[in-house]
Amino acid sequence: MLYQSTRGKTAVCASQAIVMGLAPDGGLFVPQEFPQVRPEQFYGLTYPQTAKKILELYLTDYDPDFLESAVQEVYGAGFDGKAGRLCRVRKNTYALELWHGPTRAFKDYALQLMPRLLVKAKENLGVTAATKILAATSGDTGKAALEGYAGLEGIRIAVFYPQEGTSEVQRLQMVTQCGDNVQVYAVRGNFDDAQTAVKQVFADRTLEQQLAEKNETLSSANSINWGRLVPQIVYYFYAYSQLVSSGRVRSGQRISFCVPTGNFGDILAGYYAMRMGLPIKKLICASNQNNVLTDFIRTGVYDTRRAFYKTSSPSMDILVSSNLERLLYHITQDSVQTAQWMHELSEKGVYRIPQDILAEIQQVFACGCADDVQTQQEIRSTWQENGYLSDTHTAVALHTARSAVPEQEPCVVLSTADPYKFPRAVLCAIAGGAPEDEFEAMQLLHEKTGVPIPSCLAKLPKQPVRFSKVLGKEDVRAAALEL
Ligand SMILES: *Cc1c(COP(=O)(O)O)cnc(C)c1O
Repeated sequence: MLYQSTRGKTAVCASQAIVMGLAPDGGLFVPQEFPQVRPEQFYGLTYPQTAKKILELYLTDYDPDFLESAVQEVYGAGFDGKAGRLCRVRKNTYALELWHGPTRAFKDYALQLMPRLLVKAKENLGVTAATKILAATSGDTGKAALEGYAGLEGIRIAVFYPQEGTSEVQRLQMVTQCGDNVQVYAVRGNFDDAQTAVKQVFADRTLEQQLAEKNETLSSANSINWGRLVPQIVYYFYAYSQLVSSGRVRSGQRISFCVPTGNFGDILAGYYAMRMGLPIKKLICASNQNNVLTDFIRTGVYDTRRAFYKTSSPSMDILVSSNLERLLYHITQDSVQTAQWMHELSEKGVYRIPQDILAEIQQVFACGCADDVQTQQEIRSTWQENGYLSDTHTAVALHTARSAVPEQEPCVVLSTADPYKFPRAVLCAIAGGAPEDEFEAMQLLHEKTGVPIPSCLAKLPKQPVRFSKVLGKEDVRAAALEL
């Protein structure tokens, strides 16, 4: 299997796509074809077995024995035996709980596996340089990346979070991280300040040269790397198999998936599953108040010239959904056109696709959004009427699914975070108020609902803090050099 850029003709193998991250022309790597499978090939398989079967179709230059042991390590014990767990929420609506991994957010599915894929890719290609991963984070990604890269051979990682930007749970998750190859810094300012500082380091050619002399290279942990996307295809197949095994869906019956969306990675993995042969009726793109994608799927105009809202589902507070570029390429098969739209986006903040392309997108994708009030109402009614406790991101999708899918049709909602990651917002929704202190809110939420607090979150206030350095934006470069 070869991969090519969405913006040009570069074609490389999977190992190269994973080591490079971004194509040299600025495009994203996409597979040149969609491997074809039948859903029944996956019935009765465990999560790791399903993962192995999917991954080996895409990562054809990887040793199958390596893939086998990687998926066993990552998705076996690492997810408490609950990888891909499916729960019935109401009549025909199911929650695919993707938060049983080590950091309690769905990003673990990709960020537990991708670091191993990167180490192996370097080995496959004979790359000897040490890799330094730099990540600016507003919350979930930082911890999931730290947990994924900690302890790996030939890799070091530094995470930069905004001093005034993360929740207390998220901050403690990062500053208590174990491992000899990790560093965590607070950066004075907000997320944009941290992100801009890290971007400048990536663009610094002098630094690149200085690192090269030490046989070191920089790499990023962000979600446009193919190695982060491919692991996410697996759980669509696994969810379908479970619904067939339990008799809730006939083999071959088409079902819908509703996905809380930010960077368009998670939902795009569903598109790959569909193109591979999974019977999917609709992929429903659920947004919070930052509903650029809702407007795009309705009108064909992608317009970022609008207010940015800080919502109760912060991991979806995104105006530029990078992975949409991959969908545009697959639908049009036209790298010149795709590059043109991306150019317009960066120059003018807006682009428009023609009606026939929009119609093709609408055949597969539906959309909807929920503001914070609707999100709160959804958490409350799902708890009161169905006894199911959901986090804010999942609630955006549960709300969207209500109007986007007819009641009698099966719909799987991707549940992307543990409710205890956002304890204040969730407690507010079901109790009408919450204390300032997040750990107090956790305790109260537990007393009210009886849902157990995951031990990795409960013990955070007692863990030793390993990292307390605060940097100015101008210090990020030096931190990268000395990492
Ligand atoms: C990252 C994230 C999302 C959005 O996923 P994308 O792949 O960026 O669309 C949704 N929910 C949670 C909890 C996340 O961390």
